[in-house]
Amino acid sequence: MDSFVYQNPTKLIFGQGQVQEQLVDQLQPFGKKVLLVYGGGSIKKNGLYDEVTAILESHDFDVAELSGVEPNPRLSTVRKGIEKAKEHEADVLLAVGGGSVIDCTKAIAAGAEYDGDVWDFVTKKEKPEKALPFGTILTLAATGSEMNSGSVITNWDTHEKYGWGSPLVFPAFSILDPLNTLSVPENQTVYGIVDMMTHVLEQYFHPQNNTPLQERMCEAVLKTVIEAAPELLKDLENTAHRETVLYSGTIALNGTLQMGTRGDWASHNIEHAVSAVYDIPHAGGLAILFPQWMRHHKKLGREKLVQLAERVWGIAPAGKSEDALAEEGIQKLEAFWTSLGAPSRLADYDIDDSRLEEIADKAMINGPFGNFNKLNKQDVLSILDASR
Ligand code: NAP
Ligand code: FE
Repeated sequence: MDSFVYQNPTKLIFGQGQVQEQLVDQLQPFGKKVLLVYGGGSIKKNGLYDEVTAILESHDFDVAELSGVEPNPRLSTVRKGIEKAKEHEADVLLAVGGGSVIDCTKAIAAGAEYDGDVWDFVTKKEKPEKALPFGTILTLAATGSEMNSGSVITNWDTHEKYGWGSPLVFPAFSILDPLNTLSVPENQTVYGIVDMMTHVLEQYFHPQNNTPLQERMCEAVLKTVIEAAPELLKDLENTAHRETVLYSGTIALNGTLQMGTRGDWASHNIEHAVSAVYDIPHAGGLAILFPQWMRHHKKLGREKLVQLAERVWGIAPAGKSEDALAEEGIQKLEAFWTSLGAPSRLADYDIDDSRLEEIADKAMINGPFGNFNKLNKQDVLSILDASR
């Protein structure tokens, strides 16, 4: 494995009733002026908005709001948030929602302390030197954004969607109460499950050698989610399964699994290019693309693909070629996601071949990419073509 330093400054507060228990104590040290950031209204429907605002009011916080953060958060909304944070002279931001609300809040936190355009950070032209502190109350198990320093922002004017990050945008604290995820509808529950599984898989396919614990930890998270997901989908209000999936989503992308390794992340990069052109759910795109990325690496990734087939899917190797085992593992993954209700072809989103070149060009904007294997435009086109 590679040498590494691991430091994750986010205070993770996990469990039922923790918003009531902890929110005030966690916010108080940063000051009284809060910008509350949330999405399209799910927190108003499930009562969390009322709960949070009542807590803030009763402790004399001075609250301004940014609502309407869209899934795949947009640069225009980030800019609006920066204006609000500046106008309100916010001491601290509070994101209440899923990955989109948290990612948007990260960009507001950095943008509010910068004189230039926040897009400079997303395009990596500039690095933030300062950011407002922020906390999160997570409502959807998926991205891991609640305990990492990454953020994905879409510029809908130019159809560009990029991930960026900075150590300055780790949340100061994140409160995860599984009860706040009970209202997540079936389709978003499925997307969350697919997203966290692809995060693990991206990290599983790393180029480093001698990483037995990292690989076993990835397999453990995958197996846990594979067991819990169908049970949860039978009973969306099952708190125990919600809790398992919520914790899995955080562990999947808070740095725990990638100590000493560099995950691949090419499929995420291609997905960002797809959803920059077609506004599709992030994990819907991944469910389609990831198996085809695997097939594209059947030779180069054979050892890992076989290991995955045997250890995660329990496929018996007896009498089978390595190629057949690798393919069977990929098919198991596809069948599992399809059984949950995830899409498997670009055509499921009415995406035909007319803009695949444009998508590939967007994916290639910073040159060849992927840590397990560097993809060029031809590779990307071939994966997209196989995904139709
Ligand atoms: P999301 O886009 O935050 O939310 C999806 C939908 O679920 C929204 O319509 C939201 O409604 C709804 N929702 C959220 N919580 C709910 C609840 N408790 N009850 C009912 N509905 C609820 O989904 P996400 O998958 O968490 O985030 C996706 C974004 O994160 C994408 O832009 C993706 O590229 C990015 N991402 C980031 C990272 C990272 O590390 N930072 C990693 C992977 C992906 P409301 O808007 O009404 O709340
Ligand atoms: Fe993701």
